[in-house]
Amino acid sequence: MDILTQLGVPRRINVAGTLTRLGGSLMEPEVLQAMVQAAAVSVDIAELQTGASGVIARVTGAQAGIVTSGAAAGLTLAVAACLARWDVARMAALPDTRGMPNRVLMARTHRNSYDHAIRLAGARIIDIGHNDRGTGAGIRGLEPWEIDAAITDQTAAMVFVATAQTADELPAVLEVVHARGLPVIVDAAAQLPPRSNLQRFISAGADLVVFSGGKALGGPQSSGILAGRRDLIGSALVQMMDMDVSPQTWSPSSLIDRQALKGIPHHGIGRGFKVGKEEIAGLVCALERFMARDEDAHAAALGARLQAITAALAGVPGLSVRMIEATQRAPIPTLELEVGPRALAMVGRLQTGDPPVHVGERLVDAGILGINPQTLRPEDDAVLVRCIINTCRSTE
Ligand SMILES: *Cc1c(COP(=O)(O)O)cnc(C)c1O
Repeated sequence: MDILTQLGVPRRINVAGTLTRLGGSLMEPEVLQAMVQAAAVSVDIAELQTGASGVIARVTGAQAGIVTSGAAAGLTLAVAACLARWDVARMAALPDTRGMPNRVLMARTHRNSYDHAIRLAGARIIDIGHNDRGTGAGIRGLEPWEIDAAITDQTAAMVFVATAQTADELPAVLEVVHARGLPVIVDAAAQLPPRSNLQRFISAGADLVVFSGGKALGGPQSSGILAGRRDLIGSALVQMMDMDVSPQTWSPSSLIDRQALKGIPHHGIGRGFKVGKEEIAGLVCALERFMARDEDAHAAALGARLQAITAALAGVPGLSVRMIEATQRAPIPTLELEVGPRALAMVGRLQTGDPPVHVGERLVDAGILGINPQTLRPEDDAVLVRCIINTCRSTE
């Protein structure tokens, strides 16, 4: 019997995006195959991470990289690396950061609910600047002098949350933070595609960058990438490894600078974020496939399916459909279904329907439902159309 049937769990149609609560991306058979191969053998996890580092470095242009159990875990490990560096006593103390520089700067406009991952390492977030644009009070964003003025001997790093809107501001931030000798961590969890973003933040000079593996990369849901400076990646790796090793026989990965360590660390703050050999193998395979993919052809294929869906929805009373074409910055085409004040009611109906359907809710207040085709299986296109038409009729 199929495991979902056995558990009494229905399969859902997801056009809301690669959301974690809906299981993230759908993996291609080749990725599953890589996971199956890794699952059936024993390996040295540090060796596997070191192999993955070679691929991540080649693809991102970074000095090194590791597979994490997601971008949020990557953020915690990145902050832990900036707090402890190669200091074993600090590694042992985290998340207790008494006696060490522990302040992490963020622009007020970059604060979001993944802040928790930053605080988890023991850092204290200091948010700086104003939210003039967000509140409509003014036109200016965070200025370099405001960052400079906020840096003290207690500052450990700055976190920059990359979006299509903020990314152009990164070089100015890097310049001022690097001039004070401190690292910048970039949260680029959901900034793929475009594929060029795998290199963009690293080539701008970011010290560490995190990406989700379970979003558009198409890797395992519980995977991510932490890429960046070799010393910081090594610190992050040793803080997530199983360190129940004997000093006489431990042969650390080449990413770990044994000379810089005064002793052998115990299990670190990242021990709870362990990554299985299956996730490492799956993420690396997904990353290679993401690199090999023809992005334009992929977007065009999704666009053609959305056009067919639009045609099938033509003439439904009270529904107007708009296609949002793929662009350089947002290379996945989407649909906006304008349904008026009943939008929220329709979201609820669709979610409890048969099969349950999840649409994008970002523009619900404006009476719009979002359709993102990234996790829509082609064989479900017609089912989606039927569910939308039925729900439109029943909420008219
Ligand atoms: C999705 C997301 C994360 C978390 O990514 P996971 O891989 O699910 O841990 C962190 N930051 C931002 C901005 C995100 O969009």
